[in-house]
Parts: sequence; C-alpha cells; structure tokens
Amino acid sequence: MSIAGNLGIIEEKIAAAAVKAGRAPSSVRLVAVSKMQSAAAVDAAARAGQRLFGENYVQELAAKSEEVRESVTWHFIGSLQSNKVRLIAGLVTMIHSVDRLSLAQEIDRQWGRLGKVCDVLVQVNVSGESTKSGSSSGQVLDLVRDISRLSHVRIKGLMTMPPFFDDPEGARPFFRELRRLSGLIGDEGIANVEMTELSMGMSGDFQVAIEEGATLVRIGSAIFGERIARVR
Ligand SMILES: *Cc1c(COP(=O)(O)O)cnc(C)c1O
Repeated sequence: MSIAGNLGIIEEKIAAAAVKAGRAPSSVRLVAVSKMQSAAAVDAAARAGQRLFGENYVQELAAKSEEVRESVTWHFIGSLQSNKVRLIAGLVTMIHSVDRLSLAQEIDRQWGRLGKVCDVLVQVNVSGESTKSGSSSGQVLDLVRDISRLSHVRIKGLMTMPPFFDDPEGARPFFRELRRLSGLIGDEGIANVEMTELSMGMSGDFQVAIEEGATLVRIGSAIFGERIARVR
C-alpha cells in the first residue's frame, strides 16, 4: 500500500474512533511520525494532504527539514537533551517530551533568543517503568507550576507512552490516567497553562487513545511502513 493509501485508511479509522466516542473527528490531529523515514516519504505524505510530522532525533530532523520540499510543520516527540535544543529552536511548533524543569528552561532560553514562544507538552511516565522517560504522576503538578513561570514556553497539555501490549486494551488505563491528571491540573487554573492537548496513541493503540480523549495521535509505521536505519 502507498503512503497516500495508508494515510487515507488511518484518517478514516481516526474519524470512526472519534465518532464512536461521541467526539468530532476534527478534535483529533494526526502527527505523522517520520523518524527513520526519508524526506521523500515526508513529501509524499505532504502531497497527500498530511502537513504535521513528528520527529525523535535532533540531527535527523535538522537534516530532513532542509531536504523536504513541501511546506510542512514539525513537532518534536523524542527524548531531548538540553544541549541540543538550540538545533531545533524555531524549527518545531511543539515539543511533546518535556519531562524536567532544566529542559524547559533551555527551551525558554532558546525560544527567547528568537523572541518567540514554544508550545510544549509535559511527558508523564504514567506506568512508572524505569525504561520510560517522563515526569512521575506524583510530580507532574509541581513540574507544571515551575514551567508555567517561564515566559517563552507555553504548556498546552500532557503526553504519555504506555507500556507495550499486544492487545491495545491493555493501554487503556494509562490513557485514562493521563486524562485524569490533565483534569486535575486544569482545575488548578494555573496562569500560562492550558490542558487542551492530550498526546497519546500510536500505530497499535490510537483508537483506544481517541476513545480516552487523545487530541494528538502519533502514528508512524502504520503510515510509512517499517523504519529504515538512519544516521542520527
Ligand atoms: C516512534 C514513535 C511513535 C510512532 O510509533 P509507531 O508505532 O510507528 O506508530 C509515536 N510516539 C513516539 C514518542 C515515538 O517515538
């Protein structure tokens, strides 16, 4: 199946999951995850109407963004080292993976130099698995409060990666917990903090995530197929 064909199928499935959950299909945005895929693959998806892409690796994104010919928007979704933030400053419109104050401070510094504000999501390690990055559920409110004081960073919501399950239903409690945390934080009414975005759901479990309130689904292999190895 072609990238355009896969995209069409995914868009239909997103819309169906939204309708099933009593939500408007337009309330869910697709982030096409193009890590370890070529610039040509991004261009093909863009020509099929997909304009929002997610990348995990700073150098790969910087190089690919030069190669891509179509007009696209990038989100950064991978774990991010503070010393690499300057390489993507101004290049991405949202960072989904902010999990510590020091990283948010560096984003604030780099976007501040540009006189711009960076939209961010706070990543939460809902499962508590040691291999996953993200703030713990217990610390996320304090982290949000600290980040909210930075003037060149604007918190738009939360992101999570649940553990892997063969049956996507296994991920449901983790998605539900992220939404509960989002509600709790939203109720605090913290200045400069919106809890409008929930970034959750990937190729294997996005329908469940949408049923649990996802507004951004991050889908890679179901659109582009297997990932190719690529120098980071
Ligand atoms: C790779 C990746 C995805 C996409 O995963 P697929 O299973 O290929 O859809 C989503 N989110 C993050 C953070 C990723 O690293």
